[in-house]
Amino acid sequence: MNTSVECMKPPICIICYKEFRDSDEGGLVYFEKSKSDERWIKTMKVEGLTGHPPYADWFCDKHYAAAKELSHLTISEAIEILKEKFTEE
Ligand SMILES: [Zn+2]
Repeated sequence: MNTSVECMKPPICIICYKEFRDSDEGGLVYFEKSKSDERWIKTMKVEGLTGHPPYADWFCDKHYAAAKELSHLTISEAIEILKEKFTEE
């Protein structure tokens, strides 16, 4: 059985929900941590757990570069901007 406690989210683009298996098709972008994210890190450390960080998410090749450009924002701010930007197309 799988002994790893790691529980990463499957790679599905948060903007267009495209699923990809190959890391060449997209990637994980880490955003600025918010106060609640800092709390999450602390809790995980105390509990000795690992998991998918709430301040990171998957983006397909189409949205990865734009997401990376906004990685200085928190994830909720960035996703709001990205969704607005890409739904106009
Ligand atoms: Zn996408």
